[in-house]
Amino acid sequence: MSLRPTLDFLLYQWLAAESLNQRERFADHSRETFDAVFDTCERIAREKFAPFNRLVDTQEPQFDGEKVILPQATHEAHKAYAGSGMLSAAQDYDEGGMQLPYTIEAAANCFFAMASVSIGSSLLTKGNANLLLVHGTEAQKEVFARNEFAGRFSGTMCLSEPQAGSSLSDITTRAVPDGDDFEAEPLGPRYRLKGNKMWISAGEHELTENIIHLVLAKIPGPDGKLIPGTRGISLFIVPKKMVGTDGQLTGERNDVALAGLNHKLGWRGTTNTLLNFGEGKYPVPSTGSGRPVAGAVGYLVGKPHEGLRCMFHMMNEARIGVGTAAVMLGMAGYYASLDYAKNRPQGRPVGPAGKDSAQPQVRIIEHADVKRMLLAQKAYCEGALALELYCARLVDEQHTAEAGPADDARLLLEVLTPIAKSWPSEWCLEANSLAIQIHGGYGYTRDFPVEQYWRDNRLNMIHEGTHGIQATDLLGRKVLMEGGKGLQLLAARIHSTMERASQVPELADYAKALGQALQQVGATTQAAWATGNPQDALANAVPYMQGFGHTVLAWIWLDVALAALQADATKSIAVTAGKLGAVRYFYHYELPKIDAWLQVVAARDLTCADLPEEAF
Ligand SMILES: Cc1cc2nc3c(=O)[nH]c(=O)nc-3n(C[C@H](O)[C@H](O)[C@H](O)COP(=O)(O)OP(=O)(O)OC[C@H]3O[C@@H](n4cnc5c(N)ncnc54)[C@H](O)[C@@H]3O)c2cc1C
Repeated sequence: MSLRPTLDFLLYQWLAAESLNQRERFADHSRETFDAVFDTCERIAREKFAPFNRLVDTQEPQFDGEKVILPQATHEAHKAYAGSGMLSAAQDYDEGGMQLPYTIEAAANCFFAMASVSIGSSLLTKGNANLLLVHGTEAQKEVFARNEFAGRFSGTMCLSEPQAGSSLSDITTRAVPDGDDFEAEPLGPRYRLKGNKMWISAGEHELTENIIHLVLAKIPGPDGKLIPGTRGISLFIVPKKMVGTDGQLTGERNDVALAGLNHKLGWRGTTNTLLNFGEGKYPVPSTGSGRPVAGAVGYLVGKPHEGLRCMFHMMNEARIGVGTAAVMLGMAGYYASLDYAKNRPQGRPVGPAGKDSAQPQVRIIEHADVKRMLLAQKAYCEGALALELYCARLVDEQHTAEAGPADDARLLLEVLTPIAKSWPSEWCLEANSLAIQIHGGYGYTRDFPVEQYWRDNRLNMIHEGTHGIQATDLLGRKVLMEGGKGLQLLAARIHSTMERASQVPELADYAKALGQALQQVGATTQAAWATGNPQDALANAVPYMQGFGHTVLAWIWLDVALAALQADATKSIAVTAGKLGAVRYFYHYELPKIDAWLQVVAARDLTCADLPEEAF
């Protein structure tokens, strides 16, 4: 199975990605240049990533006391990816980039995520460098961001601490000015950081010359105490090895030490680390006395106390990236189980007279229940891929459309991003579970790849904001923000699809069902907030997000089906039957689930919230 036809259809037939070339920024591009990028990425993913997916799972990163050792294949995959120019694909020509639409960059990265999600940690490097392009000084861009885009340095995001994950306001890493002339440092105001950062992906390795940590820390107030809440948080660049203003390593090590590697359920190709900042393992000479002192050197990014704002700048794209990774793991499982189902003989069909054991066995794809599991995977994964690409297209709209549509895209993204991150994390994980089920006992062994896909995918409901935190963000903030305008914009887009679908005989009933679902989501949002008490409203935020997410996916599928029918008037089996089958599946088997989810939200059901601890 190849991903390419599905991607091509969604990009070119559904999202009209080629029309982006009419924008000045993308004027040099054409379908040919987009396709050339896909060809290259598909090839590198096939040659340098896919063959090593199992290897990086079994040969976990090891620390030999000095260095973290990764398989040679990871080094080669990293080199090939950086060499392809994909690290800076969407950047300006002036930055050495290809000025590709983000939609195309996101689609091209799908090949790598499907081949081996954990070999590449480029998402972090790109996010890190992108953030510096927006919030960094010229010197910070030159020394850090551009070397990250070039693949010389890699990047991390150091937010979490052992005692502060979801609640970043409770971080305790502190940053104090480094000497009286700390503001005179050419790379940005120079601070010394002390604290521990937990779960840091790609926090230590030898893949690149240097690792550029972006670290959230608090600058103490005049009384020496840390300012409570998120207001006190600032953002710092903390290089693993000290760098001069010419971008060359000075030969000094910064005071960042690996305290340990985390041994994970999946995603084992990427190191995950506990880092100690400023414990004195690698003291750095002080600017005044020149004496080596403890404290990791960090350069302030942006203004003090605005660290979270800077960090959140990159959140939409990071979350689309996480959602897309979840989709591609789901897709990998779908393709593997489809292949297995076409080849595994087992059982016989039941005819009116029962089973005829004299007949040869059938392949399991001929059993209705196996088909159900395959169609569920297809509906979850292809639907979620469409959603991710739709959101990626909104990112391009936000950055390159006229002011009005650009602002609409911004608001729509605000509302859709929690779904783009969470829906695939939950339902493409379920797809992976179904892929295991289709393999029967073999699926539960390490002889087949599907168990690894499930383990790798299980991360996605946890990082970049857990499921619970995303749901609270959706119901507690996103659907209410700017007077509910984001939700209204989404409703308008859904209505437009419904109107078109209601004119098409095979889709008219689904248009009606979607209208009812949308109405139910609106009424539920109001009912949840009827008392104005966040504890009532948010007690069932996850079921709300599930109902909301299924409604969004029902809309996406209906819109995709319209495009499929338009592109393929003959309704050929290969092109359209699968898409129409997935739409039918979604409306018959999935959309009805929203009743159960939304009812408890609308009733502000406190069954869970009110149960006393002792009763568990
Ligand atoms: C493999 C991996 C890679 C990671 N990479 C990075 C990285 O590169 N950089 C980085 O900074 N972090 C990283 N993380 C950290 C990740 O973002 C956190 O694990 C996540 O934010 C959750 O924090 P926590 O683990 O402390 O769990 P907690 O915050 O303790 O949450 C535990 C549970 O309680 C729930 N919960 C917590 N607060 C609330 C609330 N207010 N309302 C309702 N429910 C709540 C959560 O939803 C969750 O189910 C990574 C984690 C993993 C596992």
